[in-house]
Amino acid sequence: MNTPAATPAAPSSVTADPQDRANAAPDAVEPGTSTPSQLPDPVSERDRRFMRLAQLAAEDARAAGEVPVGAVLVRGDEVIATGFNHPIGAHDPSAHAEMAALRAGALTLENYRLPGCELYVTLEPCLMCAGAIMHARIARVVYGAHDPKTGACGSVVDAFANAQLNHHTSVVGGVLESECGDALRSFFAERRRASRAARRAAAGETSSADDDSASEGDTPSQST
Ligand SMILES: [Zn+2]
Repeated sequence: MNTPAATPAAPSSVTADPQDRANAAPDAVEPGTSTPSQLPDPVSERDRRFMRLAQLAAEDARAAGEVPVGAVLVRGDEVIATGFNHPIGAHDPSAHAEMAALRAGALTLENYRLPGCELYVTLEPCLMCAGAIMHARIARVVYGAHDPKTGACGSVVDAFANAQLNHHTSVVGGVLESECGDALRSFFAERRRASRAARRAAAGETSSADDDSASEGDTPSQST
């Protein structure tokens, strides 16, 4: 159901179909076509530090066989919660990294609203997550790679730019973008390799089975 896109023409584009993070496949995009909704400040070392933690959370998703997207919820300099994408394992279409971090953070703080918190996520949030982020009154979202297929921070739609919807959240995109995108690209590349290998193995088994049955069919008459 996923069509690996990866055209060489778009080397730096993000490849995931994140939101179907369960089975997403990469789709190429022209590099630089999507820009962060807002860039109030240059990316700080602080932003990169928390994004690296989100990248670690993404590796937890990869280890679980899920599309590697990770998120970290931060208040001040304190990490309140982390989350990683796991819709397949959870049988839950809403189990994106952001949702996992929001749920865990809200439980930790015992508050369904999280004002003053920042959410770092390795991939541009989708519309569902953008909605949850707004409901939680998150102060700031920082994301890594742009998502040309379902990104709701400017790549496909910009939910946060609608003043009727969003009164609380500022957004910065492209923090450690290439690293975050590379994690997704390597995941899908590996999956395509595995898929090709499986097809070759299946084809090989079939033909060798055919060969074997032919041999078996021939052998008795030759041996007798
Ligand atoms: Zn999402």
